[in-house]
Amino acid sequence: MSYALELENLNKSYKAGSRALDDVSLKVEAGDFFALLGPNGAGKSTLISILSSLVQKDSGCVKIFGHDIDSDFAAAKRCLGIVPQEFNFNTFEKVRDIVINQAGFYGIRAARAAERADYLIEQLGLWPKRNEVSRYLSGGMKRRLMIARALVHKPKLLVLDEPTAGVDIELRRSLWQFVEQINAEGTSIILTTHYLEEAEALCRNVAIIDAGRIVKQSDMRSLLAGLQRESFVLDLSREPELASLPSYCDAKILEGVRLELSLAKGQALNELVLELDRQGCKVLSMRNKSNRLEELFVNLVGAGVEHV
Ligand code: ADP
Repeated sequence: MSYALELENLNKSYKAGSRALDDVSLKVEAGDFFALLGPNGAGKSTLISILSSLVQKDSGCVKIFGHDIDSDFAAAKRCLGIVPQEFNFNTFEKVRDIVINQAGFYGIRAARAAERADYLIEQLGLWPKRNEVSRYLSGGMKRRLMIARALVHKPKLLVLDEPTAGVDIELRRSLWQFVEQINAEGTSIILTTHYLEEAEALCRNVAIIDAGRIVKQSDMRSLLAGLQRESFVLDLSREPELASLPSYCDAKILEGVRLELSLAKGQALNELVLELDRQGCKVLSMRNKSNRLEELFVNLVGAGVEHV
């Protein structure tokens, strides 16, 4: 198996005292479209900044297409294109020049750089703006310029840090079409986002990071299948007979008279209650048991984050 990214026991604490990454290990397969999902402050940007050595890790190992960033940084860097959250180009420079000048950092010859820049500028819908000073671009165009710049040296791995923050819906769609196209052509993509729906629409695999730790890693399909089930905890007057409960609920007994149920969302509970009644079990109380992932996103909604 070949990996676009391998992280082993990555740790990072900032001087201010917060532990931004806590023993993070992660593998992203070559060719994948991978989501790193987590609420604000989870550690996503720190992780991304370590890849480009903008932030120094405290310990751990990072390999990009097998190249260790400590021992083989130049090769690792050649494989990597990063689109950070903040616009970090010279706002007085013209669009086309920004992309061409970036190619210079990778030793790409001028003629080749111009050709590649024109191709990307056109693909990303910036052609009419190519000779404009970048400060006059809209937010969405600036984002696309950042993507064009990150792709100029044809990286095998493109990392997009919260790319749709502040981008309108129509533009978001065309941006995704473009990113899906380059993924289909072989570029591995890692996308950080706090929009569950965005990750769902695009990504094949996902890791969820919370407070600097990977709390879940899964393929998207199983993650969503998991989300389509609901769990309840019922306090009963006596221990039920599990074997007779309806087959649609996956039930287990907690502490004698407490029953935990997992069932498909929207499944009616009438049959279950009738059966419990038949067994002489009164339902004294019932509550929805949210899982770790749901808790994460309840936190997000609680923090007033808009969903796409
Ligand atoms: P995310 O990108 O998921 O929002 P970050 O990586 O930006 O998360 O932040 C992870 C944690 O590290 C947060 O607690 C944040 O406050 C802290 N942090 C990030 N950058 C710095 C910094 N330069 N100095 C001190 N603390 C930081």
